[in-house]
Amino acid sequence: MKILAIESSCDETAAAVIENGTKILSNVVVSQVDIFAAYGGVIPEVAARSHLEAILPVVHKALDDAGLTKDEIDSIAVTHTPGLMGSLLIGTLTARMLAILWGKPLYATHHLKSHIYANWLGDGLVPEFPLLALVVSGGHTQIIYMSEHNQFEIIGTTRDDAVGECFDKVAKILGLPYPGGPSIAKCAEKGDIRKYKLPHPKVDGLDFSFSGLKTAVLRAVQNELGLPITTPSYELKENLSEQQKADFAASFQETACEILLEKVARALEERPEVKSIVLAGGVSANQVLKEKAQDGRFGGVKVFIPELKWTGDNAAMVGAAAYFEVVSGVKETDPYSLSIAPRTDIA
Ligand code: AMP
Ligand code: MG
Repeated sequence: MKILAIESSCDETAAAVIENGTKILSNVVVSQVDIFAAYGGVIPEVAARSHLEAILPVVHKALDDAGLTKDEIDSIAVTHTPGLMGSLLIGTLTARMLAILWGKPLYATHHLKSHIYANWLGDGLVPEFPLLALVVSGGHTQIIYMSEHNQFEIIGTTRDDAVGECFDKVAKILGLPYPGGPSIAKCAEKGDIRKYKLPHPKVDGLDFSFSGLKTAVLRAVQNELGLPITTPSYELKENLSEQQKADFAASFQETACEILLEKVARALEERPEVKSIVLAGGVSANQVLKEKAQDGRFGGVKVFIPELKWTGDNAAMVGAAAYFEVVSGVKETDPYSLSIAPRTDIA
């Protein structure tokens, strides 16, 4: 089954053609990151307008790169939630229009499912069920138990900020460029992970909390500079040396990654039948997180991490998720009633 997949949930306009959930026939991503670097963050209205300009050329290129015509495509898949409303609207309306015009079945998929299914792309080994997925992105931090394809049980979630958001906000405090996650990772290379002791939140069960860690970094920076806690965060960066920035970045990254993996270890204790652990979402690009996840702490449980190009937003993962929905018996979406919903649940 060849699926033309479309993704536009945030600031990447993407289309891909995926065969049987794993084989990548084409993959096109147009990122708006350069536009938003100047602003230090995504402006939803600007993102939606950029999607509108890019979406049809991107879809055409995905078909051309795959060497296929519209008649050779079996179905169309699109991200319908969660994401920025205006951004989602461009992708869903495009997919809906194409499904109607070309007479193809339409599958509306959940963005977080797609991030998990990035682990099935390509021709390598695929995860075995039951599995635990650690979904770490700019908007989500969740541990999800999957007993089989398309069965999702959220067993842990953040009670406040997402871990990616925490990377982004700490980067702002340190004066590192947008997007914050990769900037922290780069800056941390020259830093000492033990220089600043940051707290691990005491949250019961498998839930996370990251807002306290962000504030802890803020207080530690103020303290290091001998400034009162009323000093605004935007005034701190000029006073930090490059070495101090690197040490804060390294200490923060180390703590954030340990917090994530401690909860995964706990989830594994609660679900000893688990055969695989999969990482998913933008933060799974983090090298320290990847190394720690694969350092043997999870015993014989195999750890899967998407290839770097599949950790960010892309449409290949949407095609994979849609395929495994189809084989799990999920019915096609009626294009005339497709609505975008600001939902965050994954069921
Ligand atoms: P997503 O929401 O899945 O598109 O992922 C975006 C988030 O991933 C943002 O918060 C980024 O800062 C974060 N991110 C991207 N690359 C890295 C990295 N190498 N280390 C940590 N966070 C990252
Ligand atoms: Mg994403």
